[in-house]
Amino acid sequence: MASGQRDGAARTYSQTFSSAQMQVFGDIQPCRAAIEEAKRQGKLVGLVPTMGALHAGHLSLIRAARRQCDRVAATIFVNPTQFGPNEDFQAYPRPMDADLEACRREQVDWVFTPSVECMYPADSKTSVHVRDLTSGLCGPFRPGHFDGVATVVAKLFNILPADAAFFGEKDYQQLQVIKRMAADLNFPIEIVACPTVREPDGLAMSSRNAYLSPKQREQAANLSRALFTAAEAVRRGETNVAKLQSMMRDLIQSAGPNQIDYIEIVHPQSLARLTRVEGPARICLAVRIGACRLIDNVPVEPTRLTG
Ligand code: AMP
Repeated sequence: MASGQRDGAARTYSQTFSSAQMQVFGDIQPCRAAIEEAKRQGKLVGLVPTMGALHAGHLSLIRAARRQCDRVAATIFVNPTQFGPNEDFQAYPRPMDADLEACRREQVDWVFTPSVECMYPADSKTSVHVRDLTSGLCGPFRPGHFDGVATVVAKLFNILPADAAFFGEKDYQQLQVIKRMAADLNFPIEIVACPTVREPDGLAMSSRNAYLSPKQREQAANLSRALFTAAEAVRRGETNVAKLQSMMRDLIQSAGPNQIDYIEIVHPQSLARLTRVEGPARICLAVRIGACRLIDNVPVEPTRLTG
């Protein structure tokens, strides 16, 4: 069977660089059984959920899981329930062969690549909603998105009973939603946050960056510049959120045509909107450049004067 073809059963890929073997599962039961068997043997299992089109950001999650766990399971599933009707579900990149090769190189033990029908049988009726954390930032711009995320991640936690799951700070609101969901639903899994991996010019890596034209790609670098400039202004003593927002808006708009969905400074856990930065906070933004909607965020903390 050709590599990348889904046959529903486990496929074993020979490792070139290791004596271990990576198994690829399209079905739930054999995947769950492999993880349960490893856990019976006392192995710590790390889980890295992804939608594929793997880049260095995803690989940093896999490496963190490898460092902290004995076995690593990755999932590659473009989850339809987290895309709105006018979003890019059909167009989302799906380079399955290259993704499996990347997982193999990173010595992933198991890859779960279910079909949409496997994850959402026609008679499924349940979804998970996390209140409050989903009402701001991306929430109003992507109705239903975080329900889709929380639902698929809850299902993956049940299907792949790992000890720890690794998520990127790049999707900061998603990370907080997943932490809350895992705590509220008593999943016995540790949620590990991993820092954002950036291109040399600061642009946060994203599978969607591939949609950018060279000109838009240049423009996109201004998002992280604006975030870093604002974080520096906070370090130097600026606490007024309206001023910081205006500074970032000017920087981003000076780079060329784009549509700013939001620039917000929020509490790092509750995601409540702040008007002054008086403690640790998170600056988050979402900007549309052409057909591409980019999100990014950085932590900020005012310098405390002592003495
Ligand atoms: P996705 O495939 O976009 O759903 O992302 C899968 C996981 O990779 C999520 O936990 C993301 O937050 C994480 N991720 C995506 N981009 C980056 C990045 N640039 N740095 C670190 N983690 C990332």
